[in-house]
Amino acid sequence: MDPVDTVAALRHAFDTGTTKPYAWRVAQLRALRAMLVEHTPEIEGALHRDLRKHRDEALLTEINLVVSEIDTVLRHLRQWLKPKRTSVPMLIAPATASVVREPLGVVLIIAPWNYPVQLLLDPLVGALAAGNAVVLKPSELAPATSATLTRLVLASLDTDAVAVVEGGADETTELLKQRFDHIFYTGSERVGQIVLKAAAEHLTPVTLELGGKSPVWVDETTDLHVAARRIAWGKFMNAGQTCVAPDYLLATEATAARLVPLIAAATRHFYGADPRQSDSYGRIVNDRQFERLAGLLPGGADGAGTAALGGSTDRADRYIAPTVLTGVRVDDPVMQQEIFGPVLPIVTVAGLDEAIAVIRAGAKPLALYAFTESDEARRRILTLTSSGAVAFNVPSAHLLVPGLPFGGVGPSGMGAYHGERSLLVFSHEKAVLSKPLHPDTLAIAYPPFTKAKDALVRRVLSKLR
Ligand code: NAD
Repeated sequence: MDPVDTVAALRHAFDTGTTKPYAWRVAQLRALRAMLVEHTPEIEGALHRDLRKHRDEALLTEINLVVSEIDTVLRHLRQWLKPKRTSVPMLIAPATASVVREPLGVVLIIAPWNYPVQLLLDPLVGALAAGNAVVLKPSELAPATSATLTRLVLASLDTDAVAVVEGGADETTELLKQRFDHIFYTGSERVGQIVLKAAAEHLTPVTLELGGKSPVWVDETTDLHVAARRIAWGKFMNAGQTCVAPDYLLATEATAARLVPLIAAATRHFYGADPRQSDSYGRIVNDRQFERLAGLLPGGADGAGTAALGGSTDRADRYIAPTVLTGVRVDDPVMQQEIFGPVLPIVTVAGLDEAIAVIRAGAKPLALYAFTESDEARRRILTLTSSGAVAFNVPSAHLLVPGLPFGGVGPSGMGAYHGERSLLVFSHEKAVLSKPLHPDTLAIAYPPFTKAKDALVRRVLSKLR
């Protein structure tokens, strides 16, 4: 079906009310959950083919995340959908006012390749819970996952209201010409701009989940052994191709010197002496990304610093070793772009003031991490920097908390989701006011504004203030 017909069919389903009943929403969410649970091995297999993701990592960071999100939504949806009463000012009393959450209509979800299950289906949970018809656009750069999810989604969900369009830039460009009621995009800043421009044509609201350079500050008050383990875990998971991965590290020279061998030890513990042999370590998604990342290593076209750990590559296998770079300066190429791979530069600074200055000089990050036991350092980081999220002592885990908004700020994104917020992203909060006809208390506001009325209005307003 071409995009025009696809969207027309979904709009028909939405307009005839298919997606609005609570029972339909719950049935779709349960079907999606059952699909994920029943077909876990198949989905894990596809993720392995695309990204060499270990099945445990696939389960923990992709499949289970969506299942948990569905469980959270199913537990609370009835309550979240109840109209919320709000008080009315005396001037218009008696009246009742409430906020009603209504679905937006036909929405488009565009996903990237790095977490191709989670980032396609997590927004879908919100869209279905809110009662929308949905077009899903999986990433062509994770082709096995795209094909598997397309087949499973179409076999499991109501295809009158859920469609999948596979393909890349050309297919997405065609889709973006259609009028949607919301577009939810996860991916790069560059394409985010394309999406935003296309949405402007139809005044379609958008959510943009973008990336950027998420810094990590480590100071000497922390337990460096645990910090090193958690940083290595967050950075090298999915071979560094994680939007919330620690991008670069800021520390004093003394702290960095103690941290580097500990990160090396943690990495050896996770992936063995030769991570290439480890089935727990992933691969770079495609040749283009591989070449870009290889170029950032010492000796590469954009290389900087010294490889204190790793630095080796295998082009045929798209393998890049878990790498730590020391001696990196803020104006080196590796500090001028989102790394999105297993390369961790360490920039040494005199102290927290300089670290904050480095962070503030860059674009507002998606996440900011700090390993410190100092309350004062935490307070200063929280108040002097801006980022989508701040997490102390643990990278990436904030996205597992349904009550926390997941999203960026400024160039790292626009809007946030997860939990109840996912429902809100795909809902319109409609204001509903109802006033009885009798008694007609509005009479005070009706013209003509005679002298007597003027005096009355002023007396009443002064009493109500
Ligand atoms: P991408 O922008 O290349 O692709 C994302 C989607 O856009 C794909 O579905 C693709 O088909 C589509 N697309 C690509 N070119 C297009 C074009 N010219 N016109 C219209 N659509 C087009 O992004 P990516 O490389 O897949 O993802 C990497 C980026 O995503 C990183 O910057 C990362 O930080 C970010 N990211 C953010 C989050 C988040 O939750 N904030 C999560 C994952 C990734």
